Amino acid sequence: MPKGDVCGNVYDKTILVAQGDRTMTFDSFECAIEGMAPRCAHCGCTIIGHGVEAEDRIYCCAHCAKESGRAGVKDRTP
Ligand SMILES: [Zn+2]
Ligand SMILES: [Zn+2]
Repeated sequence: MPKGDVCGNVYDKTILVAQGDRTMTFDSFECAIEGMAPRCAHCGCTIIGHGVEAEDRIYCCAHCAKESGRAGVKDRTP
């Protein structure tokens, strides 16, 4: 039976997540977030949506991008 890469749980309903050339096995979406979701470059929280990409960094929201000095990023239109 497959085993989750994050917690090591041996489980018959594992999820395979592929991104680029890496594939990981998880026993739950929680573990998939822990194992593969990027972290905000400002506050460190896990990004489970699209996030905000500015230059070479990824942030959870426009506020964090701005706090890190990335201008011109908006969460909403006025
Ligand atoms: Zn797990
Ligand atoms: Zn953030």
